[in-house]
Amino acid sequence: DVEAQLQQVRDKLSPKGDVVSEAGRKRTMEVFGQPLSPLQVVQRICSDVEKRGLAAVLEYGKSLDGKQLYASTIRVSEEELRLAHEAADPEFLQTIRDIRENILRFQTAILHQDVEVPIEHGGKLRHRYTPLKRVGICVPGGAAAYPSTVLMTAVPALAAGVEELAVIAPPTPFGSYNLDLLATCVEIGVKEVYRVGGAQGVAALAYGVEGIPKVQKIVGPGNLFVALAKKHVFGEVDIDSIAGPSEVVVVADTTAKPAYIAADMLAQAEHSPGSSVLISWDESLIDAALTELEKQVAVLERCDLTVQSLIDFGAVIVAKDEDEACRIATDLAPEHLHITTQDSEATAEKILTAGATFLGNYSPVALGDYAAGPSHVLPTGATAHWASGLSANDFLRSRSVIHFTENGLKAIAPLVTTLADKEGLTAHKRSVTIRTESE
Ligand code: NAD
Repeated sequence: DVEAQLQQVRDKLSPKGDVVSEAGRKRTMEVFGQPLSPLQVVQRICSDVEKRGLAAVLEYGKSLDGKQLYASTIRVSEEELRLAHEAADPEFLQTIRDIRENILRFQTAILHQDVEVPIEHGGKLRHRYTPLKRVGICVPGGAAAYPSTVLMTAVPALAAGVEELAVIAPPTPFGSYNLDLLATCVEIGVKEVYRVGGAQGVAALAYGVEGIPKVQKIVGPGNLFVALAKKHVFGEVDIDSIAGPSEVVVVADTTAKPAYIAADMLAQAEHSPGSSVLISWDESLIDAALTELEKQVAVLERCDLTVQSLIDFGAVIVAKDEDEACRIATDLAPEHLHITTQDSEATAEKILTAGATFLGNYSPVALGDYAAGPSHVLPTGATAHWASGLSANDFLRSRSVIHFTENGLKAIAPLVTTLADKEGLTAHKRSVTIRTESE
């Protein structure tokens, strides 16, 4: 039953980011004194921050992250930023500069351009883009430090022309106390970094609290609490998307190197949870890739976690032929799609639903994660059917400009008056006829 098998793979493809660990549940009990669901926790935190401002932010920093901060220490000072930058490894800083250039080049090239459409009988229509002024960026810091996330969110925003960027990261050694993270912020020109994470950080950015001015849009990844908080504040501010755990679908034929396929699958599984699905119509390739997987996983630093992730969220699909493989991959709409076939470009034209597509033997997903240019903040959990990855264009808003001449208005007037009559809006009609008909 192909459909039943596909459903199993679909389930594996969206590792359940909403499962809260035992430790998480314990923390909820300690902080709130009752077994609230993650959604209830987030609603409670957001409305508390909205009502009580910075005091609530500082309290949650203490109770959830175990860090007592004050109004004077919640923002990373200029001195702290400078020292972190000075302490950074010069090679690391050069890498950050090189990656920033790659991202800037790509993101600037894809920026939407203003459009002007002439009106036949006189006048013009324009579609104009303007960058957002102030944007908030969530950088996770619970389980690992992510300088790459700063690059992949802030640099597209800078390419769009955003003037003010406010980074929030939890007050942890992987978050806003991480020197590499701070040095990265300095290197790319981010001056505002706040020691706050989780739902309280998102709420602070959305509502604005003493010392943390309100932003217009919040972007960037995070755990379940961050994701639910972004959903909660949407409407008060704009958000990018709700990105879940990472995933890759590999579509390969005999031209693929099994060792490369295995390495790519392990790179996703290493996120733990991260799902890796291999689809091929060549069983000998699948066998070879599985042998490689076993060989390579054994020497990984995060071997145990990676193996568990493969068991829980890994899958192999033997398709009838290339067309069937493409149909299955299209249906799965993965965050990352890696195609290594005889003609990867042609295969890619048959799978249009993916956050980012990587072609051939020499485009591993890690290239997109770290250095190529497109952002690594991508739609997950099959949302690539309708969502796109983060780009510089997400930091623009557009407006239309309508400028008719008298002749232009006269020519179009009947369209307006007919509809205004139908809808009974006589003032609408008159606002046109007063200009086009002599009284
Ligand atoms: P995080 O910074 O997103 O979350 C940590 C915060 O969660 C804490 O500061 C705390 O305030 C809050 N929190 C934790 N337990 C809580 C509880 N019980 N109640 C209320 N609040 C609680 O860091 P993380 O946990 O490391 O998660 C980061 C996620 O982001 C991972 O899933 C990672 O894979 C993902 N990620 C994605 C990308 C991407 O581009 N898609 C990049 C980097 C990281």
